[in-house]
Amino acid sequence: MNVFSLVLSSLLLFLLLICPPKMMAQKNDVQVSLNKVNGTVYMLEGKGGNIAFCLGKESVLMVDSQFADMSEKISTALKTITDLPVAKLVNTHWHGDHTGGNENFANQGAQIISHNNVRKRLSTEQNMKAFNRIVPAAPRASWPKQTFNDESIIYHDEEEIFIFHVENAHTDGDVMVYFTSSNVLHMGDTYFKGKYPFIDLGSGGSIQGYINALDQAIFVADEETLIIPGHGKLSNKDELVSYRKTLATIKSRIVKAIELGMSLEEIKEKGFTKEFDASYGTGFISPDSFVDTIWTDLSRGE
Ligand SMILES: [Zn+2]
Repeated sequence: MNVFSLVLSSLLLFLLLICPPKMMAQKNDVQVSLNKVNGTVYMLEGKGGNIAFCLGKESVLMVDSQFADMSEKISTALKTITDLPVAKLVNTHWHGDHTGGNENFANQGAQIISHNNVRKRLSTEQNMKAFNRIVPAAPRASWPKQTFNDESIIYHDEEEIFIFHVENAHTDGDVMVYFTSSNVLHMGDTYFKGKYPFIDLGSGGSIQGYINALDQAIFVADEETLIIPGHGKLSNKDELVSYRKTLATIKSRIVKAIELGMSLEEIKEKGFTKEFDASYGTGFISPDSFVDTIWTDLSRGE
């Protein structure tokens, strides 16, 4: 062993000692993939919610921003398709895996647009009861500068972008973004493709609102529409229709069971989700926790 390799191996040993494996695993080695969806619209998958880019003649419009530590990788990937700056950033809802990069993109000149409640929640401390976590207010630069309640239309060169609010679905500030010329719909977290959804009851989400949101998406989409879910691979109307059917079936079974006076434990033992678990039960929302959420929601007595 020569001096150089001795120094190198001691250095490695030292690094291992000061950075235990757990810490080393935290370094951001996530790969991003960027693919054209249709027309002017691209989809980026990385860590956190799926991003859409819409390429105009002078600038880019972006939907959602993942986590702050992803911004550099996102920008590098975007540079492989265009040198244009991101002028507008639409948030589908307030969660950090969709808005964590807001500040970075705002600092580079992007104007952030969202539903009114996204600004309200980003600008104040939030208690995410589902995860037992207090989320502090986001930095001011990451707050949306332009908000709306029901809908908004952005004309981005060739693309007419229809942004519409769906009430009390995943949260109380969800919007879907429909690129009308390219026929692409970004649904944010009102769609977890191939997984039971996380419904954030503490942020105003509800199972019925979630199903209603799916209905609105199904109404907007046609057979050709390409659908970007909040999480998961690119999807389409057929898959969305069967997702909606699954959620509605599970919900109505739980409604009936509650009417019969069954307890949450008895409901869980019934296995109401069983036939769907192979298709949807492998995500971070387990079948039991999905049932739990629906039961909690329906038992709130509103
Ligand atoms: Zn979310």
